[in-house]
Amino acid sequence: MQDHQIHEVIEKLTTAARAWNVPIVTEMTRRTRDPFKVLITTVLSLRTKDETTGAASERLYAEADTPAALLKLSAERIEELIYPVGFYRTKAQSILQICRILLDKYGGAVPAELDPLLELPGVGRKTANLVLTLGYGKPGICVDTHVHRISNRLGYLSTKTPDKTEFALRDKLPQQYWIIINDLLVAFGQNLCKPVSPFCSRCPLAHLCPRTGVRHSR
Ligand code: SF4
Repeated sequence: MQDHQIHEVIEKLTTAARAWNVPIVTEMTRRTRDPFKVLITTVLSLRTKDETTGAASERLYAEADTPAALLKLSAERIEELIYPVGFYRTKAQSILQICRILLDKYGGAVPAELDPLLELPGVGRKTANLVLTLGYGKPGICVDTHVHRISNRLGYLSTKTPDKTEFALRDKLPQQYWIIINDLLVAFGQNLCKPVSPFCSRCPLAHLCPRTGVRHSR
């Protein structure tokens, strides 16, 4: 695709997305607008299906939904509540450590800047950017495996890692699309532009996509 076609890409995906499920962290944010829940839900969502993350978050928040309340739970109780999310034991420990730091250093609030977020245990660039964009409405680009894969398939970028994709998008993507790009490409990646054998025959972007790196499609 040509760079100027990004506007068409966003417009077509926005239209198509009306028929798709919204990613779980976005759905949770729409309901609560709570940066703490964005943070914890995103930690839970790593390497875990959205349905599993959604159910685990609801069980957890029904019992405790603030740093102080979560610190009253044992690691074993958190494990029970969030099971079967991926790496639930490690995540239970991370959640407790995050809550302790939030209380000790930030008075129980979630930092609204990238660097202090990245210092929290279990928090990488994807999670930190989601907290900024969805939790605080600040500019940021959340790059996960879907955003990385699809930006490259479309020929919009040529990058080797999600971190490089984030920096390349910061240079190139018009800022008005920074926050929505994650939702659109995650939903698109879950529904059509799948990791293995994407549905190119039904894709609204097929006319502009060089399908870089796609070996099999449907
Ligand atoms: S044409 Fe295929 S590879 Fe390209 S964006 Fe659409 S589904 Fe993905």
